[in-house]
Amino acid sequence: MSKARFGELVEKIVEELREYEFRNLVVGARVPAELREREDELRASFRIETGEDIKEDITRAIGSMLQRRLNVSVEYQNPEIVVLVDVFSGEYEIQVNPLFIKGYYRKLKKNIPQTPWYCRYCWGRGCERCGFTGREYPESVSELVGEPALRIFEALSYKFHGAGREDVDATVIGTGRPFILELKHPRKRFVDLSILEREINEHAQGRVEVSGLEYSSRRELRILKSLSPIASKTYEAIVEFDGDVSDERLREIEERFRGIVVEQRTPRRVLRRRADKIRQKKLYYVEAEKIDEKTVKFKIKTQGGLYVKELIDGDDASTKPNIAEALGRRPLKIDLSVIEVEAPRSEKSEKDVELVLDRYSGEHLEDHGRDEEPV
Ligand SMILES: [Zn+2]
Repeated sequence: MSKARFGELVEKIVEELREYEFRNLVVGARVPAELREREDELRASFRIETGEDIKEDITRAIGSMLQRRLNVSVEYQNPEIVVLVDVFSGEYEIQVNPLFIKGYYRKLKKNIPQTPWYCRYCWGRGCERCGFTGREYPESVSELVGEPALRIFEALSYKFHGAGREDVDATVIGTGRPFILELKHPRKRFVDLSILEREINEHAQGRVEVSGLEYSSRRELRILKSLSPIASKTYEAIVEFDGDVSDERLREIEERFRGIVVEQRTPRRVLRRRADKIRQKKLYYVEAEKIDEKTVKFKIKTQGGLYVKELIDGDDASTKPNIAEALGRRPLKIDLSVIEVEAPRSEKSEKDVELVLDRYSGEHLEDHGRDEEPV
């Protein structure tokens, strides 16, 4: 490749990259083997007299030209843009790395799954049973958050990563559930996130609400995925019982269910998806407030992985202890909301994450069903 062609190549890359917002890039080279023999020739044409690898010489030369022309920096660890150049043919490829945005979501209405839930009869093609929508539920948290972001960032696609997920019939209130949105091949990266927040919240009004949006990273996504299954969760449960509930019994429950370990056998409702075994999970506290003679509002904080519905109804004594037994009443209706999900801490080092994973190995990785997080 002559020096003139080299200049042309850089110009072409500059033109294409002008479509994208970015701060940094890295240039990598794909050098065919036969080119190695022409190393001297190339060196001469670039007037590079160092003894380094020809590949590095060329990529560094292109990188520094792009850096100057586009006013960006060179980043080796987590580049936003990767340019791969075949210096022999003059062909190149631009790889636009994903953008990550973290935040919290609240789900104010029931029956909105976290990710699209397709019709179980037609798997999305559309049939009579789903009214030809192909869907079990028309909306999802993922789409309500992801679609506006896709438009604003001019990305090609997105992936929604929640810190666990609630049952479709549970709401998420309080501080909300942490999530990270991954936007693939974005053209924009310098968006004021309050614009995105407003856009999502106006569009999903009364159903889903996001807050605390911040730019994130793949590293934080890794931490979210590995630590969220074991993060503590706080729930609110409004439970209607089959008879009057005594205040005295409720106070006893508050006392007895504080800082204990609950033994729980895999609930029957999830047996098809999860291994049948006995789990031991920490229960931090249960607070009970009577709404009327038969209805109680509970606030329950547990270690991740405890099935809360079964903590309340006992699941035929397969959860010990359980609230129904302690109360001597059978629940007729349980309305469950997630009010807080402990945010995985990003300051933890990878080493800490590995240690935690070792301790809990297998437990959170056992499967990835519809209800990844027990509620
Ligand atoms: Zn269908």
